[in-house]
Amino acid sequence: MKRPSLYFTDDHDLFRQSVRQFIEKEVVPNTEAWETARRIPVSAFQRMGELGFLGLPFPEAYGGSDADFWFSVVFLEELARCGMGGFTTAVSVHEYMAINHIAKAGSDYLKQTYLAPAIAGHKVAALAITEPDTGSDVAAIRTQARREGDQYIVSGAKTFISNGTYGDFVTLAVKTSPDRGASGISLIVVELNSPGITRTKLNKMGWHSSDTAEIRFDDVRVPAKNLIGTENSGFYYLMESLQLERLVAAIMAVSGTEMALEWTLTYLQEREAFGKPIGKFQAIRHKIADIATEAEMAKQFVYHTCWLFAQGESVVKECSMAKLYTSEMQKRVIDTCLQFFGGYGYIEDYPICRAYRDARVGTIAGGTSEIMREIIAKIVIDAVAYKPAYNQ
Ligand SMILES: Cc1cc2nc3c(=O)[nH]c(=O)nc-3n(C[C@H](O)[C@H](O)[C@H](O)COP(=O)(O)OP(=O)(O)OC[C@H]3O[C@@H](n4cnc5c(N)ncnc54)[C@H](O)[C@@H]3O)c2cc1C
Repeated sequence: MKRPSLYFTDDHDLFRQSVRQFIEKEVVPNTEAWETARRIPVSAFQRMGELGFLGLPFPEAYGGSDADFWFSVVFLEELARCGMGGFTTAVSVHEYMAINHIAKAGSDYLKQTYLAPAIAGHKVAALAITEPDTGSDVAAIRTQARREGDQYIVSGAKTFISNGTYGDFVTLAVKTSPDRGASGISLIVVELNSPGITRTKLNKMGWHSSDTAEIRFDDVRVPAKNLIGTENSGFYYLMESLQLERLVAAIMAVSGTEMALEWTLTYLQEREAFGKPIGKFQAIRHKIADIATEAEMAKQFVYHTCWLFAQGESVVKECSMAKLYTSEMQKRVIDTCLQFFGGYGYIEDYPICRAYRDARVGTIAGGTSEIMREIIAKIVIDAVAYKPAYNQ
């Protein structure tokens, strides 16, 4: 019997079935191949474009569905059930981090040229903020875009960029007024095959199917019309969009945790020790009860934050709390689940092994746990208030 939901309608449930079917039939069977190749084939993006999955929150005028936020929640939850953090990252960075800025503040030209083909799955997008010398301290980035006539000349380097090796374009954070700190940052769309760009693929502990790059820019010429929104507003666009980025990470962390719990529950019934299924041992049962409680509590808080977000409320505090709690929880829970698989948990054939590697980066990427605590402390202790940046 379906339980009533405050958030999901029958339409959301039907959509969930179609995404689940896609993940089970067209993604999971490719796990080995994509993890080994250390990339997602372009055809997977094209297929998701065809199915309408890459344009859920975006306007119909550019090929999107203008769907309410709960369709995105469903999509992200189902995506994370594939058990491949790399695939989940590649897709969510493309849709909810990179092209989101173009949809929010880009010109019609940028929307036609980059947003529409990205929604169709014909172009793959990356978002580049982090640099070799600075990550958490975004205001300290040094990549520069110098204006020369109707072009910007971009020089500098970015690192840890998801979709950076094989992607088609990047939403790039640059300094347009280097002496103005955070107020000197802009966002600009750069084609990744432009002359002067060198991409180096990084070898990671996990998220194997997601390609991650260091990208160098040596006097790369970019049309000035590729600027997103207004010059020197980039930092504020980034800070506002990080809320969605962190909420997306939290949604996927809860779903990934639930998936690991499901695999573990099955194993607890199958595996026997001392003449009975290991799921009958109280030491294990109580741990499972704790995990199930923690995951459920986290899920309800994340849903509440999604609801506030969907109402247009400022959710800096809640998104930071959700990202902090769920990424730490996922890491802890998967460690415990792996323990219950005994030696098999350490063997690559078991998805819990990959999940363990993939979960580790959750407390680092998209803002570390320490930075989440800094933001929460500023709001809770110093009563700092964050203002919206778009449409200023
Ligand atoms: C697999 C992967 C994919 C990624 N994808 C992208 C991407 O697509 N685009 C992108 O732009 N970036 C991406 N990142 C970068 C990621 O967001 C950064 O790694 C992260 O923000 C941390 O920055 P950093 O690595 O420079 O660490 P640093 O900022 O150097 O921090 C090092 C340590 O110091 C701590 N620290 C820093 N400042 C403080 C403080 N004020 N108080 C307390 N502790 C502090 C940090 O928490 C951390 O523990 C990715 C990273 C990884 C690993």
